[in-house]
Amino acid sequence: PQSQDADSPVRLTDTDAALARLSAVQKRYLEDLYIKHLVPRAHLQSPRPPLINIGTYVRATAIDELVFQWLQTSADRGMRCQIVSLGAGSDTRFWRIATGAQKHALAAYIELDFPEITSKKAMAIRKSKDLSAVLGNPADVMVVHGGTGLKSLTYHLIPADLRLPPADTLSKLLASEGGAILSPTLPTLLLFECVLVYMAPSASSAVLKWFMDYFSSSGILGSIVYEMFRLQDSFGRVMVENLKARHISLPGAVPYPDVASLPGRFLNIGFTAARALTLKEIKKSCISHAELERISQLELVDEVEELDLVLEHYAITWGLFAPQSSAGAAWGK
Ligand code: SAM
Repeated sequence: PQSQDADSPVRLTDTDAALARLSAVQKRYLEDLYIKHLVPRAHLQSPRPPLINIGTYVRATAIDELVFQWLQTSADRGMRCQIVSLGAGSDTRFWRIATGAQKHALAAYIELDFPEITSKKAMAIRKSKDLSAVLGNPADVMVVHGGTGLKSLTYHLIPADLRLPPADTLSKLLASEGGAILSPTLPTLLLFECVLVYMAPSASSAVLKWFMDYFSSSGILGSIVYEMFRLQDSFGRVMVENLKARHISLPGAVPYPDVASLPGRFLNIGFTAARALTLKEIKKSCISHAELERISQLELVDEVEELDLVLEHYAITWGLFAPQSSAGAAWGK
């Protein structure tokens, strides 16, 4: 059981995300052989409403595509790359990449989250043959940080509170300790899926700036943020009230009303390029007709108008920091 403190409602949002993913897999929106091992009693969980399944599908498909392009660009340039997932929760992306066609492009995959979440995940990984086999030779897999972390050749699971000063957390965990886990010279992609909204903007910027600094002399840094936004309108206010009822506050909610302002998150701190799209825009223009046709057959959607409203209130913003090169400028077409 998780300890009850002010952060436990925020940690519980990981259970929501994992159940939504499991549901989208059970309903055949997504393929994922691994999520069931990260959800307790997965076979007993009931599916989520179509609206949640579709939102999960659009989000996952878009982020998968951006990550795929990142891995591909690195591979095309003959380089391996690193991925750091911040607030990774029960995400399965490492296992999907490591067993997919682009596994050779991955030099390191690092996941950070609260220790309560990383211990639970470390335990689930050790309990599941399907999950642990992907980590490689058991002799190379070590339990670290008093059971709250795991270390293997490529995959690292690390406990950290991302609100603390990066000099006390990221510097110690990623950049020191007898050989840095994170190489400052490989192209590196940061993933913030549904996490920055729970942190003050100053803490988020401090994390981003720490990475920019670490990669400033020779690296290329990409970053993907998925978040809810437009929380000032009537639908947005309902979303906020629902979270408040669960004791979840949103210090990092973007104060901007429109998607055009989202890239500012990156551009204002010195990123080279950034773009943003809402899930509604992504569904309309980035997902193939064949796929849209396929998912429209999966289940009946009664709440078509509400679906658009939900999709309008989530966005993906991606940015590139490449101070020394023009490489990667085309990322995320
Ligand atoms: N990224 C995963 C996904 O998309 O499936 C999980 C998303 S879940 C909504 C948010 C995650 O962020 C939780 O696992 C939570 O514990 C983590 N988180 C929130 N604030 C954090 C902080 N200050 N430090 C570390 N992790 C945090």
